[in-house]
Amino acid sequence: MWAHPMSISLRIVGRAICYAPGMHIAGLVERWQAAERVVVLTGAGLSTASGIPDFRSPGGRWERYQPVPLPDFLASRAAREEYWRYKGETWQVIRDAQPNAAHVALAELAHEDRIELLVTQNVDGLHARCGFPAERLVNIHGTDSEVMCMSCGAREAREPTQSRWESGEAAPDCRCGGPLKPATISFGQGLVAADLERAMQAASGCDLLVAAGTSLVVGPINEMLPLAARAGAETAILTASETPFDALADFRVREPIEEVLPRIRGELLQRS
Ligand SMILES: [Zn+2]
Repeated sequence: MWAHPMSISLRIVGRAICYAPGMHIAGLVERWQAAERVVVLTGAGLSTASGIPDFRSPGGRWERYQPVPLPDFLASRAAREEYWRYKGETWQVIRDAQPNAAHVALAELAHEDRIELLVTQNVDGLHARCGFPAERLVNIHGTDSEVMCMSCGAREAREPTQSRWESGEAAPDCRCGGPLKPATISFGQGLVAADLERAMQAASGCDLLVAAGTSLVVGPINEMLPLAARAGAETAILTASETPFDALADFRVREPIEEVLPRIRGELLQRS
């Protein structure tokens, strides 16, 4: 029987044996159907089909920008202006992007009670915009949809501040005089402790952890996968790129995420 070149070699990857990709999806669907507590972790790969690039990918338009760590942002107006140049430009891409079939499938799975919690590393707000239930969603790296004052803590929608930046205010300030920053977690900034706790608790108590569109290189949230595996859950990694935890995964799928997730959701629907 002819096999697709992707599936010719039968390789042992940790506990998982990679057969044809379709067989792995079938196994995952079976497991997903049986599981009572499914936790999903998503990353940048989920939004590439929405036209949101991995902003710092080599050769990309944004490669010239270096991340501005939070202490620098707070200490220097020049650093705040540099930060806003990057954030102002990238928001122009994000706000025009639309959720893709992967976001839609995850929202449907949540409404069908097949996802207990979704933790996203993405700051683009696309899960929320396609109707993923807010009470089951953790934006672990914050959101670009709001700004926050780093002095008084006031939060508000992004657009008024973005408009000020687009009108020439290089680093907009709050009414109180403090610096406004998109409400994402910067390098050198701690995660929200309650969010991290909730994510790790969910990972350690689930039956199935699915990492989708993430290369699992950003800590500490990438620890969800080994934590779940150690606690006895099965794990699935659905992403094209290599990850540090490939050897741990029970299911490893590399096909495009915007095709894989709708297919999984469709098969689960047929079985219900
Ligand atoms: Zn303020």
